[in-house]
Amino acid sequence: MYPDAGHRMVAVKKDSSVWLAAVFAVFTFYSGVAAGAEVQWLGHATTRITSEAGKVILIDPHLTTNPKTPPEYRKLEALGRIDLILVTHGHGDHSADLLPLAKLTGAKVIAPYEMLNNLLAMGALDPNSIFSMNKGGYVQPFGRGIKVHMVPAEHSSSVDLKALGYEDWLKNPLRHIAGGEAVGYVIELENGFTIYHSGDTGVFGDMAMIHEFFEPDLALICIGGTFTMGPEGAAYAVDKLIRPKQVIPIHYGTYPVINRTPEEFIEALGDSSVEVLVMQPGQVLKF
Ligand SMILES: [Zn+2]
Repeated sequence: MYPDAGHRMVAVKKDSSVWLAAVFAVFTFYSGVAAGAEVQWLGHATTRITSEAGKVILIDPHLTTNPKTPPEYRKLEALGRIDLILVTHGHGDHSADLLPLAKLTGAKVIAPYEMLNNLLAMGALDPNSIFSMNKGGYVQPFGRGIKVHMVPAEHSSSVDLKALGYEDWLKNPLRHIAGGEAVGYVIELENGFTIYHSGDTGVFGDMAMIHEFFEPDLALICIGGTFTMGPEGAAYAVDKLIRPKQVIPIHYGTYPVINRTPEEFIEALGDSSVEVLVMQPGQVLKF
């Protein structure tokens, strides 16, 4: 079921924690302990979360043309069931497979308000397939249980219709349309396990409120630099503002222009108590 379970935790922040982490990983794999969540990183910002009750959430679908996505996941059919797609902003490296994946899976879609409105107006999305929301609000897409909060990000969000694969893009006088403002998401699972996905962002002071309001157990944080925080900014954001228990660095190494590394992130974190989980694309972690 988890072909990569044997090397799930490839690195943690402190050497002394490696053995503890390895023991814990082996114990959870063989003991059959019910997992509160599974997190699979599919390269870049693309992340699949499976809740304890089996709901599947895919964040920022960029698979078919993502050089870091394992080949077996570059076919959308390989993803299987998806209940909900979250898009942090309109840039193609976060939304390229949104339209075909929504159509294929019938998943509901949450994205920045203006991005959704424009895609609906173009007839590119089914109006019954979306949750309309904006920053500061939350929805419960499956009734009681999971809460999805839309939170700020410090970034932009134009939609490139060509990157999105929108078949009628040539008929549109504008290739780039308004995508509202970039966002992040805080996902509270049924059992209270709370995950923050930063999307693309620079550091901003109100990240401290993400800690105050939600106390995330796990944060997926962009570290690649150039278009987002680099390792130094991300380390400050994680250690001083967001303060999750564990962090997974994402959005690095996909393209030469975002070539910063988890090693630099770990170095920048210094003696922070936040545990770093460095994943390989396609890898699954249980929490
Ligand atoms: Zn972006």
